Amino acid sequence: MKRSIATVCLSGTLDEKLDAASSAGFDGIELFEADLINSPLSPSQVRGLAEDLGLSIDLYQPFRDFEAMPEPDFRRAEAKFDVMEALGAPTMLVCSNVSPHAIDDDALAAAQLHELASRAHARGLKIAYEALAWGRHVSEYDHAWRIVEQADHPALGTCLDSFHILSRGTSLDTIDAIPGEKIFFLQLADAPYLRMDVLQWSRHYRCFPGQGALDVAGFVQRVLATGYSGPLSLEVFNDVFRQADPCRTAVDAMRSLIVLQDALPEPAKLDGFAFVELAVDSPETEDLLRAMGFAHVGPHRTKPVQLFEHGDIRVVLNHEGSDPEVVAIAVASADPDASAARAEALLAHRVERRRGTGEADLTAVAAPDGTAVFFCGPDWINDFLPTGEGGGEGVPIERIDHITLAQPFEAFDEAGLFYRSVLDLQPSDAAEFAAPDGLVRSRAYASGDVRVVLNVPALASTRDRTELQHVAFSCADALATARAMRERGVPLLAVPENYYDDLEARLEIDTAPLRELGVLYDRTPEGELLHFYTARLGGRVFFEVLERRGGYRGYGALNSPVRMAAQRGGVAEPVT
Ligand code: MG
Ligand code: MG
Repeated sequence: MKRSIATVCLSGTLDEKLDAASSAGFDGIELFEADLINSPLSPSQVRGLAEDLGLSIDLYQPFRDFEAMPEPDFRRAEAKFDVMEALGAPTMLVCSNVSPHAIDDDALAAAQLHELASRAHARGLKIAYEALAWGRHVSEYDHAWRIVEQADHPALGTCLDSFHILSRGTSLDTIDAIPGEKIFFLQLADAPYLRMDVLQWSRHYRCFPGQGALDVAGFVQRVLATGYSGPLSLEVFNDVFRQADPCRTAVDAMRSLIVLQDALPEPAKLDGFAFVELAVDSPETEDLLRAMGFAHVGPHRTKPVQLFEHGDIRVVLNHEGSDPEVVAIAVASADPDASAARAEALLAHRVERRRGTGEADLTAVAAPDGTAVFFCGPDWINDFLPTGEGGGEGVPIERIDHITLAQPFEAFDEAGLFYRSVLDLQPSDAAEFAAPDGLVRSRAYASGDVRVVLNVPALASTRDRTELQHVAFSCADALATARAMRERGVPLLAVPENYYDDLEARLEIDTAPLRELGVLYDRTPEGELLHFYTARLGGRVFFEVLERRGGYRGYGALNSPVRMAAQRGGVAEPVT
């Protein structure tokens, strides 16, 4: 099927939007009237530009407040038909009337749409009538369809928009009754569930399919079953996308359609994290890892990186780095080539790597924030020369539980869709918490032992702030591990007494052992979480150690503000 994107999805001027859509591989666009009006390009120049870029102009939109009026404005319609002819745009979107002058009379609406369609037909054009969720008298797609049926003109069909339909929770049953050839256009958008005025929800919070909470895939299946064969077209109004790089947004958009159409190789089975790579600038991180019981396995054969190991946990330190930060995460894949092929099918960029003779052929792709994501088989570890150094005893941490990555403000939804689709992870509900420097949004993506948590400031800020990253290690006994680490001199984050007072008040538990060691606690009906944090490594990284009891599946989000405030308080104090 053709894939299209509305120009309103992308930032920039019209020519920049067209460039971005074309580069991302779209076949066509919906041209938003405002984008044309604001452009110095004439309609025929826009047509030529689109043709040069391999884009068709599939829809001209929107034509507002036309039907069911005392005096329908055919003069305005004819002027727009002139524009469409110059553009080579075959179909005009008429959205349901929101004017206070509109009359609640389906027969009148049908008659006027019939006349509009006749005039369009005379020029070889078509009209697609769409119910806006906030239309004055027509706000449901089945109502718009009844009017189209009543108008009964071959050049008049309906436009189905997943947001307008799913946001209202309308039954999808009527879709089955619409002949596919009378669906003239299909617009797709997802959105998070929000309790707010539907117009504001639509204008600011739409997102690409797979980034929100609506069942867009189920909706599309339903529409395709009618025989609809027009474009799958994205129409997303989103405050963040409007100011993001249009080329990146267009790739994100295309990725959402690839996922939606499930045009992908099966994901290879992943078995947790193979390693995490930190860029570092000093020996302090090595000292910290040793204190946490890690053994120095050895240096890489050809690169300035060192491997540290503890149980199933492997941390690679890259001394090309500056302030400590996570630069790569690696998943253990049953079929690294298949994982890489899937990533590339999802338009992930390959990270070019130098590879020495005899070294493992590791494929890495770049996540939206630049973090490299590696797919590893079992042999990557042979690239490191063994030192024979043993690890510390008595610090019982076991594996990497999750990796939390702060995202650039504009990359949060894009990164979510990236990790979700490339690693085939399931998203959790988004959480929000109040950190000292502002509200933070957080969402986890997980499958088996691969868990990635993304954090982002809820609002962009010009204030200088450090967005932290952390790597969480699991253990079977958080209190014993905290005690062992403390004895070995690992600097742990100090937790305020007020936190424990509140915990006692809320949960009636004995907090003495938690207080003593700076261990935080959470409880859900499924189980319990005990967790604690190391001090920062100087840059933006710290470690977490956690013990999941029972079926606890979360990440201790309730405790995140406490942790963030403690970190904001300056240098985390060693517990002594
Ligand atoms: Mg629409
Ligand atoms: Mg965590």
